[in-house]
Amino acid sequence: MTATLSAFRAGSSIARLLVLAMLTVHRSASSAPVPGKPLPSWERGMLDIHQINTGTGNAAFFVLPDGTTLLLDAGAGYREDKVKSRYDAPQRPNASRRPGQWIGRYVQRMHPDGDAGALDYVVLTHFHGDHIGGLGPSSPQAPAGAYRLTGIADLAETVRIRKLLDRGWPRYDFPARSGGELMLNYRAFLQWQIENRALQVEAFAPGRSDQLVLLRAPQEFPDFEIRNLAANGRVWTGSGTTTRSRFPAGAVPSENNCSTALRLSYGAFSYFSGGDLSGTPETNRGAWTEMESAVAWVCGPVDVALLNHHGSPTDVANAFFLSVLQPRIHVISVYAASQPGPDVLRRMLSERSYPGPRDIFATNWQWPGRREHMVKLFGETDTAWLVDRINHFTANQGHVLVRVEPGGNQYRIIIIDDQHEPGDVVSVHGPFTARNSTAP
Ligand SMILES: [Zn+2]
Repeated sequence: MTATLSAFRAGSSIARLLVLAMLTVHRSASSAPVPGKPLPSWERGMLDIHQINTGTGNAAFFVLPDGTTLLLDAGAGYREDKVKSRYDAPQRPNASRRPGQWIGRYVQRMHPDGDAGALDYVVLTHFHGDHIGGLGPSSPQAPAGAYRLTGIADLAETVRIRKLLDRGWPRYDFPARSGGELMLNYRAFLQWQIENRALQVEAFAPGRSDQLVLLRAPQEFPDFEIRNLAANGRVWTGSGTTTRSRFPAGAVPSENNCSTALRLSYGAFSYFSGGDLSGTPETNRGAWTEMESAVAWVCGPVDVALLNHHGSPTDVANAFFLSVLQPRIHVISVYAASQPGPDVLRRMLSERSYPGPRDIFATNWQWPGRREHMVKLFGETDTAWLVDRINHFTANQGHVLVRVEPGGNQYRIIIIDDQHEPGDVVSVHGPFTARNSTAP
């Protein structure tokens, strides 16, 4: 390399062309993902969004273009009855470790700094077990602190977290103070991390775009932004950092509708994630009991969207939401037999919702016993339809990686084997051109 570089500097135009050709070949050879092979490492300028499949809830690991890292949720459902009855998916890769531990190991493998890499940010969308870690009989006591290990607490045993943002800090009293076991455990975990690991905690502030920022080389990537769209029913207006509340004064919203939502943009590329926001008003309650419409209005069209609430059959992907976001790619974080529901999927697939092609990627598909639950939920006809449709998803099992090329004009979807560690590439889809791309 030294010789070729000095030839390059020496200024011979032929040498220069040769070196450029070698670098180009080397670069594409090193960065092209190939089925059956290990995933090529993230490189500076790329944006990686890994939807991690543990079979137990939501977790997404982001490596931003300058190497800043972010984890969005660390779910561990622990619905032990539902796992036993096979309504919920089995754990991935297997049940020999807890989901938060698997997520930690995944982060360590994919982190640009390797095993010792810290998470610059953790964002927790809302306080349900499938997003922060639930408590089950098998959740052990933390070795050092007065709390039990699950989800995010399990992960923090091995991966250092620098800053954590959630919807409740510091008072945890909206819509009401919770004395529930899950919240008390979570807060004891935070307190221990603050005192012993210098964890910083902040409230996720809707409207702002200066809370989740590039920390290593922001000046190199001026067209990168994470806009906080919503939290606690408060939604960005699209103007400055101002927000307004979707909830009437005194109303008692669901935990799901308090979820944080964000839009990430990188050059021409954009991505939406909104936790478990609902898109259908609750029966006999006001229109404010659905959040998708209000959030869609300020989000606008995106390339990739994580489907809200795992595709829950009764309450997500309303027609207005789809008609505004128009995702080219849908990612669904599936862990239960009900996900996605037939009506949700019909709306997602319909060109009446929005025109043009779309691809759907789900983290989990068939497991023994799932079909019987689908029949109970949806009947034989809709189950047969769902099975056929899901079989024809672009991919329906594995970790789903959205890998955006430097600059943000193009991206690929890469499926990574979720049964082994480290999992090889299973399939590669794209490249897709970002919707706002003006590149030739
Ligand atoms: Zn959830």
